[in-house]
Amino acid sequence: MDFWRNAVCLLKDCLFPVFCFECQTEGKWWCEKCIKKYAITGVYYCPICHIDNNSGQPCNHCKVVSPLNGVAAFFNYNNHNVVGELIKQYKYNFAFDISSVWNMLIDLYLINIINKMNIDVNSLTIIPIPLHKRRERERGFNQADMIAKKIYRTLICERKVEFDNRNFLRKKYTQQQAKLSREYRLSNLKEAFVWCGKNPAPKNILLIDDVFTSGATMQECSRVLKKFGAQKVYGFTLARD
Ligand SMILES: [Zn+2]
Ligand SMILES: [Zn+2]
Repeated sequence: MDFWRNAVCLLKDCLFPVFCFECQTEGKWWCEKCIKKYAITGVYYCPICHIDNNSGQPCNHCKVVSPLNGVAAFFNYNNHNVVGELIKQYKYNFAFDISSVWNMLIDLYLINIINKMNIDVNSLTIIPIPLHKRRERERGFNQADMIAKKIYRTLICERKVEFDNRNFLRKKYTQQQAKLSREYRLSNLKEAFVWCGKNPAPKNILLIDDVFTSGATMQECSRVLKKFGAQKVYGFTLARD
């Protein structure tokens, strides 16, 4: 897979050279110079009512009903046209080389954000939001999985971090959440996920996805993981909608 992915990237580079969205420099979708113009300190918000705060923990009002212990992202999707465009290209146009942009963001800014969320990185398991096998085949890859692997590689230095993309599964082929109304999103997710790893599930979990929209998917994943014994579950995405 990696071989073909690289071959496709190389071919695409020759046929359709890439230019920075902001400054048109050739070779990068979004160059380091342009990224560094922004103060990327993360966006933090209550996982239920989505009101901004400083740590991503649920507000006092929502604390009792939120299985998620905290969420954060690099950006607000809507304030950043570049990021929205990059995520779309990445997800639907097989522009795998955009992952170099995510990698740069993760290298530069992730650890500060994790610290601000008060996550214990000395016993943390990173888990990507799973795609159903059929959806993964349709799309060719799971973008959440690729981002999660990079986050794992970044956090592993001198810390006891683990990565698990085998034991948390999506067993129901659901309709795409983005196309559904709010009420349908929840019923669509019913019994969609299962933990089939050792029992209890890891104590401290960081779930990874590309975008946080209603949060229904991430909340349902947290609920299931806690049912199987997880104690704290956090979420991190590239952007929030
Ligand atoms: Zn640039
Ligand atoms: Zn709230």
